[in-house]
Amino acid sequence: MGQTIDGKAVAAVVRAEVRERVVRLAARGVVPGLAAVLVGDDPASLVYVGNKEKACEQVGIRSLRHRLPASTSETELVALVRRLGHDADVHGILVQLPLPAPLRAQVVIEALAPEKDVDGLHPVNQGRLLAGLPGLRPCTPLGVLRLLDTTGVALAGARAVVVGRSVLVGKPVAFLLLERHATVTLCHSRTADLAGEVGRADVVIAATGQPALVRGEWIRPGAVVIDVGINRGADGRLCGDVEFEPACARAASITPVPGGVGPMTVAMLLANTVTAAEQAAAARAA
Ligand code: NAD
Repeated sequence: MGQTIDGKAVAAVVRAEVRERVVRLAARGVVPGLAAVLVGDDPASLVYVGNKEKACEQVGIRSLRHRLPASTSETELVALVRRLGHDADVHGILVQLPLPAPLRAQVVIEALAPEKDVDGLHPVNQGRLLAGLPGLRPCTPLGVLRLLDTTGVALAGARAVVVGRSVLVGKPVAFLLLERHATVTLCHSRTADLAGEVGRADVVIAATGQPALVRGEWIRPGAVVIDVGINRGADGRLCGDVEFEPACARAASITPVPGGVGPMTVAMLLANTVTAAEQAAAARAA
Protein backbone atom coordinates (compact mmCIF):
# COMPACT_ATOMS: atom_id res chain seq x y z
CA MET A 1 0.00 0.00 0.00
CA GLY A 2 1.44 3.35 -1.00
CA GLN A 3 1.97 6.31 1.22
CA THR A 4 -0.61 9.09 0.99
CA ILE A 5 1.05 12.47 0.43
CA ASP A 6 -0.46 15.02 2.82
CA GLY A 7 -0.85 18.19 0.77
CA LYS A 8 -2.32 20.12 3.68
CA ALA A 9 0.76 19.44 5.82
CA VAL A 10 3.19 20.38 3.03
CA ALA A 11 1.17 23.54 2.31
CA ALA A 12 1.43 24.47 6.00
CA VAL A 13 5.23 24.16 5.78
CA VAL A 14 5.26 26.41 2.68
CA ARG A 15 3.06 28.97 4.46
CA ALA A 16 5.40 28.97 7.47
CA GLU A 17 8.37 29.61 5.15
CA VAL A 18 6.44 32.46 3.52
CA ARG A 19 5.66 33.96 6.93
CA GLU A 20 9.41 34.00 7.79
CA ARG A 21 10.23 35.69 4.48
CA VAL A 22 7.48 38.29 5.15
CA VAL A 23 9.09 39.05 8.52
CA ARG A 24 12.49 39.51 6.85
CA LEU A 25 10.93 41.87 4.28
CA ALA A 26 9.19 43.84 7.06
CA ALA A 27 12.62 44.47 8.60
CA ARG A 28 13.47 46.22 5.30
CA GLY A 29 10.23 48.24 5.41
CA VAL A 30 8.45 46.17 2.73
CA VAL A 31 4.96 44.71 3.11
CA PRO A 32 4.20 42.33 0.21
CA GLY A 33 0.96 43.26 -1.54
CA LEU A 34 -1.26 41.10 -3.73
CA ALA A 35 -3.96 42.75 -5.85
CA ALA A 36 -6.85 40.42 -6.67
CA VAL A 37 -8.96 41.48 -9.63
CA LEU A 38 -12.42 39.97 -9.67
CA VAL A 39 -14.85 40.76 -12.49
CA GLY A 40 -18.53 39.86 -12.18
CA ASP A 41 -20.13 37.72 -9.51
CA ASP A 42 -19.41 34.11 -10.32
CA PRO A 43 -19.96 32.42 -6.92
CA ALA A 44 -17.03 29.99 -7.27
CA SER A 45 -14.66 32.85 -8.18
CA LEU A 46 -15.86 34.81 -5.14
CA VAL A 47 -15.04 31.85 -2.90
CA TYR A 48 -11.60 31.34 -4.50
CA VAL A 49 -10.67 35.01 -4.14
CA GLY A 50 -11.95 35.02 -0.55
CA ASN A 51 -9.78 31.98 0.26
CA LYS A 52 -6.72 33.58 -1.28
CA GLU A 53 -7.29 36.79 0.69
CA LYS A 54 -7.67 34.86 3.93
CA ALA A 55 -4.46 32.95 3.20
CA CYS A 56 -2.64 36.27 2.52
CA GLU A 57 -3.84 37.71 5.81
CA GLN A 58 -2.55 34.67 7.73
CA VAL A 59 1.01 35.13 6.47
CA GLY A 60 1.17 38.95 6.59
CA ILE A 61 0.67 39.67 2.88
CA ARG A 62 -1.53 42.71 2.27
CA SER A 63 -4.32 41.80 -0.13
CA LEU A 64 -6.23 44.42 -2.09
CA ARG A 65 -9.43 43.40 -3.84
CA HIS A 66 -10.55 45.14 -7.02
CA ARG A 67 -14.12 44.10 -7.63
CA LEU A 68 -15.55 45.17 -10.98
CA PRO A 69 -19.02 44.66 -12.48
CA ALA A 70 -19.53 42.06 -15.23
CA SER A 71 -20.27 44.97 -17.58
CA THR A 72 -16.65 46.21 -17.32
CA SER A 73 -15.09 46.73 -20.73
CA GLU A 74 -11.84 45.11 -21.77
CA THR A 75 -10.29 48.58 -22.09
CA GLU A 76 -11.20 49.43 -18.47
CA LEU A 77 -9.91 46.11 -17.20
CA VAL A 78 -6.64 46.40 -19.11
CA ALA A 79 -6.25 49.98 -17.78
CA LEU A 80 -6.66 48.74 -14.18
CA VAL A 81 -4.16 45.92 -14.69
CA ARG A 82 -1.66 48.38 -16.20
CA ARG A 83 -2.20 50.82 -13.31
CA LEU A 84 -1.54 48.05 -10.79
CA GLY A 85 1.59 47.22 -12.76
CA HIS A 86 2.92 50.69 -11.89
CA ASP A 87 1.78 50.69 -8.23
CA ALA A 88 4.85 50.23 -6.01
CA ASP A 89 2.72 48.80 -3.16
CA VAL A 90 1.49 45.98 -5.38
CA HIS A 91 3.97 43.13 -5.88
CA GLY A 92 1.61 40.51 -7.28
CA ILE A 93 -1.48 40.79 -9.50
CA LEU A 94 -3.99 38.03 -9.72
CA VAL A 95 -6.80 38.19 -12.30
CA GLN A 96 -9.37 35.63 -11.25
CA LEU A 97 -10.36 33.45 -14.20
CA PRO A 98 -12.65 32.76 -15.94
CA LEU A 99 -13.62 36.28 -16.99
CA PRO A 100 -17.24 36.92 -18.01
CA ALA A 101 -17.86 37.04 -21.77
CA PRO A 102 -16.87 38.82 -23.94
CA LEU A 103 -13.70 39.71 -21.96
CA ARG A 104 -10.66 37.89 -23.34
CA ALA A 105 -8.40 36.43 -20.65
CA GLN A 106 -5.35 36.39 -22.93
CA VAL A 107 -5.59 40.14 -23.63
CA VAL A 108 -5.75 40.88 -19.90
CA ILE A 109 -2.92 38.46 -19.06
CA GLU A 110 -0.71 40.11 -21.65
CA ALA A 111 -1.36 43.50 -20.00
CA LEU A 112 0.17 42.24 -16.72
CA ALA A 113 3.62 43.37 -15.68
CA PRO A 114 5.55 40.08 -16.03
CA GLU A 115 7.39 40.69 -12.72
CA LYS A 116 3.99 40.85 -10.92
CA ASP A 117 2.42 37.90 -12.76
CA VAL A 118 2.17 35.61 -9.73
CA ASP A 119 0.08 33.07 -11.68
CA GLY A 120 2.96 32.66 -14.14
CA LEU A 121 0.68 32.98 -17.17
CA HIS A 122 2.21 35.94 -19.02
CA PRO A 123 3.96 34.86 -22.25
CA VAL A 124 7.22 36.33 -20.91
CA ASN A 125 7.12 34.02 -17.89
CA GLN A 126 6.04 31.06 -20.02
CA GLY A 127 8.88 31.79 -22.42
CA ARG A 128 11.36 32.04 -19.56
CA LEU A 129 10.25 28.63 -18.33
CA LEU A 130 10.68 27.19 -21.82
CA ALA A 131 14.13 28.77 -22.08
CA GLY A 132 15.18 27.53 -18.62
CA LEU A 133 15.53 31.10 -17.33
CA PRO A 134 14.37 32.28 -13.89
CA GLY A 135 10.86 33.73 -13.74
CA LEU A 136 7.53 33.38 -11.96
CA ARG A 137 6.18 29.87 -12.49
CA PRO A 138 2.49 28.84 -12.39
CA CYS A 139 1.31 27.94 -8.88
CA THR A 140 -0.21 24.49 -9.32
CA PRO A 141 2.81 23.13 -11.23
CA LEU A 142 5.13 24.55 -8.53
CA GLY A 143 2.98 22.78 -5.94
CA VAL A 144 3.27 19.51 -7.85
CA LEU A 145 7.06 19.74 -7.82
CA ARG A 146 7.12 20.58 -4.13
CA LEU A 147 4.98 17.51 -3.36
CA LEU A 148 7.28 15.31 -5.45
CA ASP A 149 10.24 16.62 -3.47
CA THR A 150 8.65 15.58 -0.19
CA THR A 151 8.52 11.96 -1.40
CA GLY A 152 12.28 11.84 -1.90
CA VAL A 153 11.88 10.53 -5.48
CA ALA A 154 15.01 11.16 -7.56
CA LEU A 155 13.73 13.10 -10.58
CA ALA A 156 17.02 13.16 -12.52
CA GLY A 157 16.80 10.35 -15.05
CA ALA A 158 13.33 9.28 -13.88
CA ARG A 159 10.66 8.50 -16.47
CA ALA A 160 7.90 11.03 -15.87
CA VAL A 161 4.55 10.90 -17.65
CA VAL A 162 2.32 13.98 -17.55
CA VAL A 163 -1.27 13.35 -18.65
CA GLY A 164 -2.85 16.62 -19.84
CA ARG A 165 -1.20 19.40 -21.85
CA SER A 166 -2.97 22.54 -20.65
CA VAL A 167 -1.14 25.85 -20.45
CA LEU A 168 -2.15 26.11 -16.78
CA VAL A 169 -0.95 22.70 -15.59
CA GLY A 170 0.28 19.99 -17.98
CA LYS A 171 2.78 21.91 -20.09
CA PRO A 172 4.43 23.85 -17.24
CA VAL A 173 4.65 20.68 -15.12
CA ALA A 174 6.41 18.96 -18.02
CA PHE A 175 8.96 21.79 -18.32
CA LEU A 176 9.56 21.94 -14.56
CA LEU A 177 10.23 18.18 -14.60
CA LEU A 178 12.56 18.61 -17.57
CA GLU A 179 14.40 21.35 -15.65
CA ARG A 180 14.96 18.71 -12.97
CA HIS A 181 16.36 16.30 -15.58
CA ALA A 182 13.46 13.85 -15.73
CA THR A 183 12.75 12.12 -19.06
CA VAL A 184 9.33 13.54 -19.76
CA THR A 185 6.46 12.23 -21.87
CA LEU A 186 3.53 14.61 -22.30
CA CYS A 187 0.27 12.73 -22.98
CA HIS A 188 -3.11 14.13 -24.03
CA SER A 189 -6.48 13.22 -25.45
CA ARG A 190 -4.95 11.94 -28.71
CA THR A 191 -2.23 9.82 -27.12
CA ALA A 192 -2.42 6.40 -28.77
CA ASP A 193 -1.58 4.11 -25.84
CA LEU A 194 -2.11 5.96 -22.56
CA ALA A 195 -2.05 2.75 -20.52
CA GLY A 196 1.33 1.80 -22.01
CA GLU A 197 2.82 5.28 -21.43
CA VAL A 198 1.61 5.45 -17.81
CA GLY A 199 2.74 1.86 -17.20
CA ARG A 200 6.38 2.77 -17.94
CA ALA A 201 6.46 5.80 -15.65
CA ASP A 202 8.35 6.23 -12.38
CA VAL A 203 6.40 9.45 -11.84
CA VAL A 204 2.83 10.03 -13.05
CA ILE A 205 1.15 13.46 -13.03
CA ALA A 206 -2.53 13.45 -13.98
CA ALA A 207 -4.18 16.76 -14.97
CA THR A 208 -7.08 16.05 -17.30
CA GLY A 209 -10.33 16.80 -15.50
CA GLN A 210 -11.56 13.28 -16.37
CA PRO A 211 -12.61 11.33 -13.27
CA ALA A 212 -10.62 8.10 -12.77
CA LEU A 213 -9.17 8.29 -16.30
CA VAL A 214 -5.88 6.84 -15.05
CA ARG A 215 -6.66 3.28 -14.02
CA GLY A 216 -5.04 1.84 -10.93
CA GLU A 217 -3.83 -1.24 -12.83
CA TRP A 218 -1.78 0.98 -15.21
CA ILE A 219 0.46 2.24 -12.39
CA ARG A 220 3.94 0.71 -12.33
CA PRO A 221 4.58 -0.78 -8.88
CA GLY A 222 6.61 1.72 -6.85
CA ALA A 223 5.69 4.76 -8.95
CA VAL A 224 4.91 8.18 -7.45
CA VAL A 225 1.52 9.52 -8.48
CA ILE A 226 0.36 13.15 -8.28
CA ASP A 227 -3.29 13.71 -9.07
CA VAL A 228 -4.10 17.32 -10.00
CA GLY A 229 -7.68 16.64 -11.08
CA ILE A 230 -10.61 18.02 -9.12
CA ASN A 231 -13.81 16.46 -10.37
CA ARG A 232 -17.28 15.87 -9.06
CA GLY A 233 -17.93 12.08 -9.17
CA ALA A 234 -21.27 10.43 -9.98
CA ASP A 235 -21.94 10.21 -6.21
CA GLY A 236 -21.44 13.99 -5.91
CA ARG A 237 -18.12 13.63 -4.04
CA LEU A 238 -14.85 15.20 -5.11
CA CYS A 239 -12.50 12.85 -6.93
CA GLY A 240 -9.32 13.06 -8.96
CA ASP A 241 -8.21 11.87 -12.38
CA VAL A 242 -6.67 8.70 -10.93
CA GLU A 243 -8.58 5.67 -9.71
CA PHE A 244 -7.37 6.13 -6.15
CA GLU A 245 -7.70 2.80 -4.27
CA PRO A 246 -6.14 0.46 -6.87
CA ALA A 247 -3.49 3.06 -7.75
CA CYS A 248 -2.62 3.45 -4.08
CA ALA A 249 -2.17 -0.32 -3.79
CA ARG A 250 0.61 -0.21 -6.44
CA ALA A 251 2.18 3.25 -5.95
CA ALA A 252 5.00 4.13 -3.55
CA SER A 253 3.28 7.47 -2.85
CA ILE A 254 0.13 9.12 -4.11
CA THR A 255 -1.81 12.33 -3.49
CA PRO A 256 -5.44 12.10 -2.36
CA VAL A 257 -8.25 14.28 -3.76
CA PRO A 258 -9.12 16.41 -1.89
CA GLY A 259 -6.13 17.16 0.34
CA GLY A 260 -3.30 16.65 -2.16
CA VAL A 261 -2.44 19.24 -4.81
CA GLY A 262 -5.40 21.53 -3.98
CA PRO A 263 -3.97 23.12 -0.80
CA MET A 264 -0.60 23.63 -2.53
CA THR A 265 -1.91 26.01 -5.20
CA VAL A 266 -2.77 28.84 -2.80
CA ALA A 267 0.41 28.22 -0.77
CA MET A 268 2.53 28.62 -3.91
CA LEU A 269 0.61 31.80 -4.83
CA LEU A 270 1.73 33.24 -1.49
CA ALA A 271 5.29 32.09 -2.16
CA ASN A 272 5.25 33.70 -5.62
CA THR A 273 3.95 36.99 -4.17
CA VAL A 274 6.77 37.10 -1.63
CA THR A 275 9.30 36.22 -4.34
CA ALA A 276 7.98 39.12 -6.45
CA ALA A 277 8.24 41.47 -3.43
CA GLU A 278 11.80 40.31 -2.67
CA GLN A 279 12.82 40.86 -6.26
CA ALA A 280 11.23 44.32 -6.35
CA ALA A 281 13.07 45.24 -3.12
CA ALA A 282 16.36 43.93 -4.51
CA ALA A 283 15.85 45.86 -7.77
CA ARG A 284 15.18 49.08 -5.81
CA ALA A 285 18.27 48.55 -3.66
CA ALA A 286 20.52 47.90 -6.70
P1 NAD B 1 -7.88 21.45 -19.29
O1 NAD B 1 -9.27 21.03 -19.61
O2 NAD B 1 -7.38 22.78 -19.74
O3 NAD B 1 -6.88 20.36 -19.94
C1 NAD B 1 -7.15 19.00 -19.86
C2 NAD B 1 -6.07 18.23 -20.57
O4 NAD B 1 -6.35 16.85 -20.41
C3 NAD B 1 -6.01 18.49 -22.08
O5 NAD B 1 -4.66 18.77 -22.45
C4 NAD B 1 -6.47 17.19 -22.71
O6 NAD B 1 -5.73 16.84 -23.88
C5 NAD B 1 -6.20 16.17 -21.62
N1 NAD B 1 -7.17 15.09 -21.70
C6 NAD B 1 -8.52 15.19 -21.68
N2 NAD B 1 -9.07 13.97 -21.85
C7 NAD B 1 -8.05 13.09 -21.96
C8 NAD B 1 -7.98 11.70 -22.18
N3 NAD B 1 -9.08 10.95 -22.28
N4 NAD B 1 -6.76 11.12 -22.25
C9 NAD B 1 -5.64 11.87 -22.14
N5 NAD B 1 -5.65 13.20 -21.91
C10 NAD B 1 -6.84 13.80 -21.86
O7 NAD B 1 -7.71 21.23 -17.75
P2 NAD B 1 -6.65 21.84 -16.67
O8 NAD B 1 -6.90 23.28 -16.45
O9 NAD B 1 -5.26 21.39 -17.00
O10 NAD B 1 -7.14 21.07 -15.37
C11 NAD B 1 -7.06 19.66 -15.27
C12 NAD B 1 -7.67 19.21 -13.97
O11 NAD B 1 -6.91 19.75 -12.92
C13 NAD B 1 -9.11 19.68 -13.74
O12 NAD B 1 -9.79 18.68 -13.01
C14 NAD B 1 -8.95 20.91 -12.87
O13 NAD B 1 -10.07 21.15 -12.05
C15 NAD B 1 -7.75 20.50 -12.05
N6 NAD B 1 -6.97 21.62 -11.51
C16 NAD B 1 -6.68 21.58 -10.21
C17 NAD B 1 -5.92 22.57 -9.64
C18 NAD B 1 -5.58 22.48 -8.19
O14 NAD B 1 -5.30 23.49 -7.56
N7 NAD B 1 -5.55 21.28 -7.63
C19 NAD B 1 -5.47 23.65 -10.42
C20 NAD B 1 -5.76 23.67 -11.77
C21 NAD B 1 -6.51 22.63 -12.33
